Amino acid sequence: MKNTTEFNIVSIREDFPILNSKVNGKQLVYFDNAATTQTPKVVIDSIVSYYSTLNANIHRGAHYLSQKATEAYEGARKKFQKHLNAKNSSEIIFTSGSTHSINLVANGFIGLLKSGDEIIVSHLEHHSNIVPWQMLCEKIGAIMKVIPMNQEGELIFSEYEKLLSNETKVVFVNHVSNALGTINPVKEIISKAHEFGAAVLIDGAQALPHFEVDVKDLDADFYVGSAHKFYGPTGVGILYGKEKWLEKLPPYQGGGEMIDEVTFEKTTYAKLPNKFEAGTPNISGVIASGIAIDYINNIGLKTILKYEDALLKYATEKLLEIDGIKIYGNTDNKTSVISFNLGNIHHYDIGSIIDNEGIAVRTGHHCAQPIMDYYKIPGTIRLSLSFYNTKEEIDSLISAIILAKKMLS
Ligand code: PLP
Repeated sequence: MKNTTEFNIVSIREDFPILNSKVNGKQLVYFDNAATTQTPKVVIDSIVSYYSTLNANIHRGAHYLSQKATEAYEGARKKFQKHLNAKNSSEIIFTSGSTHSINLVANGFIGLLKSGDEIIVSHLEHHSNIVPWQMLCEKIGAIMKVIPMNQEGELIFSEYEKLLSNETKVVFVNHVSNALGTINPVKEIISKAHEFGAAVLIDGAQALPHFEVDVKDLDADFYVGSAHKFYGPTGVGILYGKEKWLEKLPPYQGGGEMIDEVTFEKTTYAKLPNKFEAGTPNISGVIASGIAIDYINNIGLKTILKYEDALLKYATEKLLEIDGIKIYGNTDNKTSVISFNLGNIHHYDIGSIIDNEGIAVRTGHHCAQPIMDYYKIPGTIRLSLSFYNTKEEIDSLISAIILAKKMLS
């Protein structure tokens, strides 16, 4: 968007070259934003510009290009510090994505926990916030407990309180469910866990694209996200960690950049954040992710949220006008995600017909099989809306669903 605080949907859509594409001979309608958001031209340009004018390895060379690339990379770290309101920029670690960030933390806790220690997960998690912790449990004999959900797709807070004890060492919950859009009460979850001295990791992959996050206000011990879900490139993730926790955790990977001194007898590790950034990182991607943050801040996350909420309301009403639609996750406090099925028709069959109309939605279990098991379904059709979507696009989807219903009933 060209330096305007006004929300101008025409100008916003012009910022995303891919939105002009045709798919199957039809105008692309992109509703798979919870999987990956599209990339604005400023972000694409920043990658081209990096390789055209700045490409060099960082932190290593005394030469001009290396210094400039290092400045740009570290500048991105400062942007994320400010964006998340972290105390120090050394509390921001760049990774390859939320999955990598969670694995880094879970792996670190292997050295800090012992057999019989308890960890708490929620029923609403993406597999990437379940499996790394299960691997930890298998390795050291820790016990994983699960915060249950209700029919509305909300976590049952009173049940969470019952799970907490002095044995609880880590709680890991997403800020927003990718499958249902539920916004979880993470501030309260963190505060309760802290009463028992447990650390809390918040998976913010689905929160960062939609609303402001203040890690100090939340008092989160760890907070993770993926740049490709907030209009940045793939292959870049962030991990915020409180300094005291990042100091305690051992390094995840060994290699260049993360050391202080290496001899064959012993290696000492670099200070934060380098301790967790072994090897050459995705330099252009990190810089471009900083540009993505500038881009969404230029529009304003409050403006984005308001627009997306209006789209969510419109899409929900329109969908419910179709006989046989069942929406999963009906809490009032949700982001612009709608998971649904149509009668007994398989979600995949509907997805294919919608795709023929040039409309991209996600079908399946959305890497959240425990949620599907709860509802006793194999999967759903998931519509996930961004601020570049329009009511007209939702109308096209509704027509495509009606068409699919006629063809498949
Ligand atoms: N956590 C949540 C809530 C997600 O929605 C996703 C991806 O959909 C992930 C984690 C994993 O993100 P990535 O594949 O970028 O590592």
